[in-house]
Amino acid sequence: MAASGATGPARVIDGVAAAREVYARLRERVAALGRVKIRPALTAVLVGDNPVSRIYLRNKTRACAEAGVRSEVLELPAGCPAQTLRATLAKLNADPGVHGILVQLPLPQPLDASLVAQSVAPAKDVDGLTWHNLGALMVGQPLFEPCTPRGVMALLERAGVEIDARQAVVVGRSVIVGKPMALMLMARGATVTICHSRTRDLAAHTRRADILVVAAGRAGLVTGNMVKPGAAVIDVGINRLPGGKLAGDVDFASVRPVAGCITPVPGGVGPMTIAMVIANTVLAAERSLTPGAA
Ligand code: NDP
Repeated sequence: MAASGATGPARVIDGVAAAREVYARLRERVAALGRVKIRPALTAVLVGDNPVSRIYLRNKTRACAEAGVRSEVLELPAGCPAQTLRATLAKLNADPGVHGILVQLPLPQPLDASLVAQSVAPAKDVDGLTWHNLGALMVGQPLFEPCTPRGVMALLERAGVEIDARQAVVVGRSVIVGKPMALMLMARGATVTICHSRTRDLAAHTRRADILVVAAGRAGLVTGNMVKPGAAVIDVGINRLPGGKLAGDVDFASVRPVAGCITPVPGGVGPMTIAMVIANTVLAAERSLTPGAA
């Protein structure tokens, strides 16, 4: 699908259905691994007692069950020293029964998430956030791609959005979303613009986008008058409104009549991010059959 004049309300890209399809395919791969006595396993490490982190972990545990992946959550107290966390990760790195490791973010102060992530072995870094994997992404050789941008790419593909030679605009330049997103779109042939809080005239950039990915963490930042007719609009943002409702960074009501396709919040990128964590875990388990081949 190319961005060409809009012909009605945008198609809504269903992230829940997309994730379900991913799990169905993963179950087949998990069954194949079972025949050689391997059960893919994901261990998540939770530090402290953040209730939102618990919700995310519960969703990941459910997703593992749906794909047939074994999952475990290791809990450490909020005040635990970085050394203890590093020692826990070292143990998991050495455990052949653990294929994927993730450290649930955010970490309580004063733990530095970016530094802690470096203690995860790159071959088990199913979040794709070690410097090894992020650096390797720069040259197109990551062991694992970061899960949110990978989920976005999968949604674009599922929606039949052409990427090669298109104008893509990414709003947000974080290490976990914006920057890897831009690299992945560029690797697929898009001409990419990255916008951030210092960008002047955001709308002038977003209006040129055939593919617009918004990951700013600002509810309703992108409105219909900022979108090119027919564009593919992917809303990564998750914002909790004062009443408790979840909202994206894209004002769905004003953008849908203009865009060609659009992801909702909730039910868009979120479920696919989780599906990609599980997909990476299965991939890690498959690679464990041929050590050194990764
Ligand atoms: P960060 O806060 O790390 O980064 C936000 C980025 O947006 C920054 O680069 C910032 O610019 C930019 N930004 C902020 N305000 C504006 C603005 N007004 N105009 C343009 N750019 C702006 O957030 P994350 O990347 O971690 O997450 C972004 C959003 O995505 C959040 O809502 C988060 O909850 C959600 N998220 C959703 C996931 C999912 O699975 N759906 C997964 C991960 C995140 P600057 O660098 O200049 O400060």
